[in-house]
Amino acid sequence: MNTPVTQAAVALELGADGILMATMDLPGRPMNVVGPALMAGIAAAADHLAGDPAVLGLVLTSAKADFCAGGDLDEMYTWTRPEQPFEASMAMKRVLRRLETCGRPVVAALNGHALGGGLEIALACHARFALDDARLKLGQPEVKLGLLPGGGGTQRLPRLVGQQQALQLMAEGTEIGVQRAQALGLLAGLAADREALLAQARAWCLAHPKAQQPWDAPKFRWPGGDSRTPAALQMFSLAPSMASAKSQGNYPAVTHILSCVFEGGLLGFDAACELESRYFAACAMSRQSKNMIGTLWFQLNAVKKGASRPAGVPRSSVRKLGVLGAGMMGAGIAHAAAQAGIEVVLLDTAQQAAERGREHARALLDKAVAKGRRTAAQREATLARITPTTDFALLAGCELVIEAVFEDRAVKAEVTRRVEAVLGADAVFASNTSTLPITGLAQASVRPEQFIGLHFFSPVDRMPLVEIIVGAHTSAQTLARGFDFVQQIGKTPIVVNDARGFYTSRVFGTYVMEGVAMLAEGVHPRHVEAAGLQAGMPMPPLALQDEVSLSLSLHVAEQTRKDLEAEGRPVAEHPGMAVIRRLCALGRVGRKAGQGFYDWPAGEGGGDKRLWPGLAAEWPVAAVQPPQQELVDRLMFAQANEAARCLGEGVLRSVADGNVGAILGWGFAPFEGGALQYIESRGVAAFVERARALAARHGPRFEPAPLLVRLAQQGKGLADAAA
Ligand code: NAD
Repeated sequence: MNTPVTQAAVALELGADGILMATMDLPGRPMNVVGPALMAGIAAAADHLAGDPAVLGLVLTSAKADFCAGGDLDEMYTWTRPEQPFEASMAMKRVLRRLETCGRPVVAALNGHALGGGLEIALACHARFALDDARLKLGQPEVKLGLLPGGGGTQRLPRLVGQQQALQLMAEGTEIGVQRAQALGLLAGLAADREALLAQARAWCLAHPKAQQPWDAPKFRWPGGDSRTPAALQMFSLAPSMASAKSQGNYPAVTHILSCVFEGGLLGFDAACELESRYFAACAMSRQSKNMIGTLWFQLNAVKKGASRPAGVPRSSVRKLGVLGAGMMGAGIAHAAAQAGIEVVLLDTAQQAAERGREHARALLDKAVAKGRRTAAQREATLARITPTTDFALLAGCELVIEAVFEDRAVKAEVTRRVEAVLGADAVFASNTSTLPITGLAQASVRPEQFIGLHFFSPVDRMPLVEIIVGAHTSAQTLARGFDFVQQIGKTPIVVNDARGFYTSRVFGTYVMEGVAMLAEGVHPRHVEAAGLQAGMPMPPLALQDEVSLSLSLHVAEQTRKDLEAEGRPVAEHPGMAVIRRLCALGRVGRKAGQGFYDWPAGEGGGDKRLWPGLAAEWPVAAVQPPQQELVDRLMFAQANEAARCLGEGVLRSVADGNVGAILGWGFAPFEGGALQYIESRGVAAFVERARALAARHGPRFEPAPLLVRLAQQGKGLADAAA
């Protein structure tokens, strides 16, 4: 709360037409964000408007690229008592209320995004105009960080567009474009450029000297009715349970948004605004919100700013990329790189296979064109950057080559040698292997210091994460160049040290296998699957195992066992492995075969998949079922504990990489803030105690990671471990 309050955040200029131009430009920040400084500037503008009879109206706009991006999360994260968010929310609303009730017209001229608090400011204006720009977004995305619009949004929006539309925008955090916003009635008009935008806004002010908000008119009627109408009563009798079914009750913000809109629909505007502030405070104080802001804002920003990138190495970019193997992953990587403007040589063993890889990119681009996200010309330009070939000589001049050939050491070694023969001395060679240790693969390289792992996720076009793996000999320069490339193609990099399964596959595997082990113990498969969803995971474990394919998991497990035995380190098999082996023997190898834990219907979607009835004959369901919470804890503790082992063993280099990698890599329950935050938010000592209880009942894999035991003894948290 100690942000210096300065009126310079909003510049005021009175035009000859009597319209006061208020331009938001928060000093020292790249974006306008709602906080004391910005609100003080808007309050000063409102004072001027109300106090000077020469001022006929006010146009609010921004000098930054966007109108206003939302609330100041840096400030919110410092709140420790509910009075703080309550008062901050009320303070914002007092200013906005004054602005909209001072008897003169106020218009928002949206020159860029109006999101969160930014849209709430615009909603407190009597009309809104926007640039006719397809990239401009409006929305209330607060729910994605466990919050709700606390600047009057939950009250103004439903009074403007109706309860149902408003709920959709707020409960899902959907961002909409200007066309949709205009159709909803949020925008009074669109303008081709800034000059026209401001001219329209001024003209509106002059044409509406007595502008008033609809809800301040004595005969105000809610569009579609308030909370007393039969339709609303029906909707609100179902909506909370529907929302909980979707969120498993893990996102209290969603329920609070519903409460704001329903209860606010029974109250006058000012009482409703106060009610909103109470729910806002509840959200802002919630564990879920703190977890999400901590990881998806602070830690993600630290990751993006290069906390794991070696300092002192100049930034680099790739102009020409080689991709070996035009299969599922190679084609996806080629598409991502070509979209970022990089020339791509896409090589496979047959010309036809390489061409198929480019066709994959075409199919993705066709979809983007159909949705209006790309023009046909952009599609052609992107495709023209991909050269399909079988000729290694074309790789000459590539700054980076990524191999995505079969997961086979010999095949990978062979292509490494052939590529290095034509590459320049500076070029970096990367492997997209998902399971083979990088240091071992680098043995095929004549320059292992320029060898690195770039582990993409499938499908490449939708998955935002790349796990960068540093081999024993990988140099800092090579790491920096890998890091820069990942950012160049718009993905988020985490950096881990080389180890079996790296970080993401290793931890993700514990989730799936824990679910499989439960089945073997006689837990009803439906309880297993429900526990996965209740835990907040995007997909339940058995369905996920079917997607990954049981034969692949068996192959990897066998390979790992052989490798470790060869190193003289035999490992105890996971209790779930016997189940995988049995199903593979039955030919039930997963979705690709149409049968695994589930019977999968043919075709896309798999929506009607059904658990295989034969599971009960193989693994009889126990008469007494464990409490559901025990199952949820097992699925989450298995992952969190393994993530802590990765940190303790130095596979993970930072807590931020661990948390961000978990959420972006395999969809670890976002409201928990990531696999390590799961431990931190419960307290290391409490986690250790519960892990020991689980170990006593379910086996030594739950014994807490040595790092956690040490931290618990010292009374420290994971943040201390990383410091
Ligand atoms: P894929 O079978 O779809 O594609 C492999 C391609 O490599 C094929 O087109 C094949 O013709 C080509 N190829 C084989 N030998 C070659 C050679 N000597 N020279 C040139 N091309 C050759 O496999 P994929 O799923 O794309 O996986 C590729 C790599 O990415 C593997 O190492 C895999 O472990 C890894 N990976 C896969 C996933 C995934 O989800 N599928 C995720 C991350 C990493």
